[in-house]
Parts: sequence; C-alpha cells; structure tokens
Amino acid sequence: MVRMSKIGVLAIQGAFREHRKMLEKLGADVIEVRSAKELTDIEGLIIPGGESTAIGKQLAENGFGKKIINMARQGLPIFGTCAGMILLSKNIDQSNQYSLGLMDTLVRRNAFGRQIASFEADLNVKGLKGEKVRAVFIRAPFVVKSAPQVEILAEYKGKIVFVRLDNLLASAFHPELTDDPRIHEYFLKMIP
Ligand code: GLN
Repeated sequence: MVRMSKIGVLAIQGAFREHRKMLEKLGADVIEVRSAKELTDIEGLIIPGGESTAIGKQLAENGFGKKIINMARQGLPIFGTCAGMILLSKNIDQSNQYSLGLMDTLVRRNAFGRQIASFEADLNVKGLKGEKVRAVFIRAPFVVKSAPQVEILAEYKGKIVFVRLDNLLASAFHPELTDDPRIHEYFLKMIP
C-alpha cells in the first residue's frame, strides 16, 4: 500500500490533468503548481509532458525553477515525463533552452523522428514485476548519453527511455495516458 502523499503537479502547460487523475486514483493528495509559492509543503513533484520550451520559459522566471532545483538538492522526489525529462536534463542536444539541469544526462528532443512521431510500445522496466509496460510516446525525447550513476530502467530499440538518479525519475513516455498505475506507484515509493 502506498501511503497518502502530497504531490505537486506542475500545471503550467501540458498533460498535468492526466497525472492528477492517476495520482488521485492511487490515493495521493494533488496540488497543481503554477508558481514557486505552491511548491511549499509538497513531498514530490511531477513535471508533465507538453512543450519543454514553454514550460521552461515560466520556470526561468521569478525564481520558480531555482526553488525546484534547491528542493531537488534537498532530496525532493521529482518525476519528469517527456518534456519533463527534457527539463530535468543537464544537457539538451542542439538547444540552449532553459532546463533545471538536475540529471546527468544528454537528451535529444523529438528524437524518434518525424515519421514515427507518436507510437506505443511494450517495455520491460527494471524492478517492475508482471506484464510489460505499455508506453505511449508522443514526439518523445530519448537519452543519448548518461553518467554511470544514472540508473537505466528501460530502453526501447536500444534507446534509453526511462532513468533514475537518486530522487529523480524521468521517462520519455507518458505513463499518465494508460490505465497502468505501476510507474506512478514506483514514483510514490520514492517518497521517504
Ligand atoms: N517534443 C516535446 C518537447 O520537446 C515533448 C513532447 C511531449 O512532452 N509529449 O518539449
């Protein structure tokens, strides 16, 4: 059983409602976060998919991103999905857009190419028992390179699509768009 936790979902833009629904189904208390002030008291944070440049622009202002960085350094569990993965990464291939720069990864945006911009795939996820995880990819990034301390949790056709570094979790796919709660459960278990 996952205990009741207070989870912030960054709600600037993108698929935050779907994360909210999934978290509430799992019994978490959800706070939609639109400013630095709303980060207070949360025990975990989800950065949803959407447009990483648009979300990044907001984070760059008024110390919003800085506060998230400080909280992450103090151990706040953060889960970035798709655009959220891009925003967590230290390096973004061929882009100088804003990122929180917390994970020792190099990611590439829209990395699967135009022809297969959106697709679904079944993934083996390290540490998850039972069936494979049905993963929805939408103009998804992947991790081109990661530091040795970054744990690789899933790959798709040899590309890294799910990673963890201590209190930080990032997926190239959208676990909030299926009915399978296991990825969110995994994240909730990271909360001390
Ligand atoms: N391609 C988008 C970006 O670079 C991410 C897409 C998504 O989050 N579904 O921000």
